[in-house]
Amino acid sequence: MIYSESLEKAASIAKKTIDDLAEEKIAANPQNFTVWFDQLTGRNPELTRFIDRAREQGLEFSPDQMRKIYDRFIVPGNSNDDDNANSWSQRIGDVAAQIAKALGDVGDGTEKYGAILEKFSGNLSGTENSTDLAHVIGDILSETQSMNGQINNLQNRVSDSSEELEDLRRELADTKRDAMTDKLTGLANRRCFDETLIQMTDDAKESGKPLCLAICDVDHFKKFNDTHGHQVGDQVLKLMGRILVENIKGSDLPARYGGEEFVIILPETPLNGASIVADHLREKLAGRKLSRKGSEDSYGKVTMSIGVTEYLIGESMDELIKRADSLLYKAKQDGRNRICAARAHPGLQKAS
Ligand code: GH3
Ligand code: MG
Ligand code: MG
Repeated sequence: MIYSESLEKAASIAKKTIDDLAEEKIAANPQNFTVWFDQLTGRNPELTRFIDRAREQGLEFSPDQMRKIYDRFIVPGNSNDDDNANSWSQRIGDVAAQIAKALGDVGDGTEKYGAILEKFSGNLSGTENSTDLAHVIGDILSETQSMNGQINNLQNRVSDSSEELEDLRRELADTKRDAMTDKLTGLANRRCFDETLIQMTDDAKESGKPLCLAICDVDHFKKFNDTHGHQVGDQVLKLMGRILVENIKGSDLPARYGGEEFVIILPETPLNGASIVADHLREKLAGRKLSRKGSEDSYGKVTMSIGVTEYLIGESMDELIKRADSLLYKAKQDGRNRICAARAHPGLQKAS
């Protein structure tokens, strides 16, 4: 065997990519090629799921739609950041061009080799004497060795390129993760929250299962910061992050919404379930005594207030967030260190 298994596999995925792109009438440019190649490998399950769904629903993969898919699933950072998208496209395109060049070079070599073999086979019929035969064998051997050298060279160049692609993939994944993570707490950031909320409310619409949103805000945090300093305040935010992560189940998404405000999306959860979770989180924070590391000095207690509401099918993300926020405001007005949960804005309906 000349080709290694991974080379064959990559070639077969590349071929299927080209075939699929033609079938779906999508231009085989580096951006679309990358999207399709990646989804066929299955290494980006969200992308594969998205494309499968889109195909099932017969959606058109227009240039604009492909650009959005690329920005959302392949390119990290701000989707309006053209420079960023272009630089990744450029880098991926460069590696693809290197592979294409290596394949092209060997293609030329193979043609020459074939022509030489043909020439020799024509010459052999008239060759009877053993010295001539030995010459012919020697010539074929030397051409074969030269071909072999070119193939080895191709293998090395393809393997270098696939290492480069692998590095790019890792770098992309890291950058994408960074773009979605809040540095201080390690939780999902606002951008990740916005995107996940759209996805999860879509899922809720489809499945008919309830989804809740909770907004948590640290009480009198300004005073706490003014008294103990910003760094201690940051420690509280980190603690908030840990409490959220440790006390909710895997499918729930906690995120830092900004400043000292945190949000949690609770899919497949009705309002009473979400209220129990929220109150448990509130109790966990209120039950912590904060003290200076290695000292008995206490910073006292920190509490939070939480607004909880359930997604109403068909409403906008803005309406959902505003309602949760107004319930949070009500919890503050009612005395803080409490939750306020309802399906409607406070004032329109009594909190349940
Ligand atoms: P309330 O109970 O009404 O929420 O009062 P509050 O003081 O928490 O609310 P307010 O919105 O007036 O103040 C929020 C304060 O949170 C302002 C700032 O001191 C602090 N804060 C916001 N972001 C950060 C941060 O990243 N680190 C730290 N240490 N403090 C922050
Ligand atoms: Mg606030
Ligand atoms: Mg606050």
